[in-house]
Amino acid sequence: MSGKLKISVAKYKDSFAFNTAVNEFYIDSACEEEHTECTSAVRHRETGHDITSLQPPLKSTENSEKGEALKKLRDYKINNCIKCGLSKERNLLVFGEGNADSDLMFIGEAPGADEDKTGRPFIGKAGQLLTKIIESINLKRENVYIANIIKCRPPGNRNPEQNEIESCSPFLREQIDIIKPKIICTLGKFSTMFIFNEISNAAGGESIEFEKIGNHRGKIYDYRDIKVIPTYHPSYLLRNPSAKKDVWEDMKLIRDLLSKYI
Ligand code: SF4
Repeated sequence: MSGKLKISVAKYKDSFAFNTAVNEFYIDSACEEEHTECTSAVRHRETGHDITSLQPPLKSTENSEKGEALKKLRDYKINNCIKCGLSKERNLLVFGEGNADSDLMFIGEAPGADEDKTGRPFIGKAGQLLTKIIESINLKRENVYIANIIKCRPPGNRNPEQNEIESCSPFLREQIDIIKPKIICTLGKFSTMFIFNEISNAAGGESIEFEKIGNHRGKIYDYRDIKVIPTYHPSYLLRNPSAKKDVWEDMKLIRDLLSKYI
């Protein structure tokens, strides 16, 4: 995998306590000049304009074949999606971001308020913790790919409903098909359940019953040619910091697996 995910295996760090600045940028949600009557992305969508110009650039994927495929998927297939009720209240759709050529993909649940505002995944407090978690194994956030099962924010950050997962998860499936990561780290219950369903529904696949993350973390599951490592969602860690030590163990597992691909 040389030239893809650049990791110095000799320099792993043993704590999440890093003061790395998270790369924050907020796009202006007002319309472009030609849509001056629109004052926000929500209004922009209500007026039926294409919101592609409001989405953040997929910076780290620009010059790659997989990056191009992801851009096409986002711009032509997902950007103006109204397949479920979450489209009504979203500001910006949160597609996912990172290195399309990465061997490592993180999958979370759904965007929150900060993500809905910016169109970027995991940039609020939980996202900043995820960035530190990624950096704890000496990776950079831009080395990996980060996405959610649900692309639009559930109101009040409630849990996604089954019909929303069913409507949106085909997009995630396509992202996985394009990126073809070697490792997926599922963050929390919903993305882990999604992958377990995928494994169970595959021809000849082993049926895996989801219990709780604590029972599945620390283990490696096989999903097609991908190794899946479930761990706690960073939001859970914010409420339960004592679980960070478990996540650190899971990150070391990921680090060791990744070193096999270098
Ligand atoms: S959550 Fe997914 S399926 Fe629902 S509107 Fe947004 S992109 Fe479409």
